[in-house]
Amino acid sequence: MSKKVKFSSTSNSAFYATTRFRVSQFFSEQELHQHANSHMWFKTAFFLTGFVGLYLLMIINILPPLVLLPLAAGLGMFSAFVGFNVCHDAIHGALSGNCKVNKAFGLIFNLIGANPYVWSIIHNVVHHTYTNIPGHDEDIEVAPGLIRISHDDEINAIQRFQHWYAFPLYSLASLSWIFRKDYMKFFQKEIGSHQNKHPKVEYFNLFFYKALYYFLFIVLPLMVLSVNWWQFIIGFLVLHIAQGLTMGLVFQLAHVVEGTVFPLPDEHSQMCEAWAEHQMRTTANFATQNKLAAFFLGGLNRQIEHHLFPKVCHIHYGQISLIVKQTASEFNLPYIENQTFFDALKSHFLTLKKFSKEVAPG
Ligand SMILES: [Zn+2]
Repeated sequence: MSKKVKFSSTSNSAFYATTRFRVSQFFSEQELHQHANSHMWFKTAFFLTGFVGLYLLMIINILPPLVLLPLAAGLGMFSAFVGFNVCHDAIHGALSGNCKVNKAFGLIFNLIGANPYVWSIIHNVVHHTYTNIPGHDEDIEVAPGLIRISHDDEINAIQRFQHWYAFPLYSLASLSWIFRKDYMKFFQKEIGSHQNKHPKVEYFNLFFYKALYYFLFIVLPLMVLSVNWWQFIIGFLVLHIAQGLTMGLVFQLAHVVEGTVFPLPDEHSQMCEAWAEHQMRTTANFATQNKLAAFFLGGLNRQIEHHLFPKVCHIHYGQISLIVKQTASEFNLPYIENQTFFDALKSHFLTLKKFSKEVAPG
């Protein structure tokens, strides 16, 4: 069992105290609340309508297989966008001040194939606390043994080519999620240093909602669509390759780019810095000036603000980023950002390449 990592006392983090004070001052001066505003509810309606609309358009069986194929890719991308924009905020409790509303929108996560309860542990508890700490942050273990992103990861001869096969591998992310990851994480004794003890209802939820997803996305299409089995498999793979690639790329660009670090605790499981400083060294933003990224990525391109303020709805990140950036500079802390999506992509590729070079030809 891995020991619980401790950060240097957060009371020492003048940076975090100052940033929090300034951000709460900003919200009160602007007479804003930290949850969804009308723009955010518009986005929520847009992504949910797109997701449900594409599904219905396909399932009513009026379109030929060749037209269904690009719609399947669109449905896969919209599944990822619903996850980024709606469910991620809802499961963090950031969408609304009403926990029942968050719970309801969090349940939609099941319809994109993922279990909200398992995510709340892997992501909210473990990843957000122990960001980029090898052996503790299971979010960064995309494909253990195949992808190596820190000096402490195990070495495997095939990783010499990881910068070439990483992207096709990311496209399998959602397939692995719906058939393997949730079950594996749920039944693991611990996730990082978090002991898994699940309420009984979550055993029911896991199997019930997975069965519902399999019914809606496998059984029902096979029953009603005028396609044969191999055409269905192609469509299902296209949907998940689109969903997996969209998710995999966006997740990786926040923590695995040049400049972010993967620090280890000392022999007493103690990190040398306070938690907020740690977040500033392990997290990066990208394409923050891009309006399309702001609309589609649900604040996942502004992960610095998200990691410091996970309970603030992503719609406000643009405004509070000015405060965070200014305060980081006053406290001599890094504020890591890539100007564009392609800069971040290149930086991720170069990071994979750097760690591939440490692997001797076998
Ligand atoms: Zn998050």
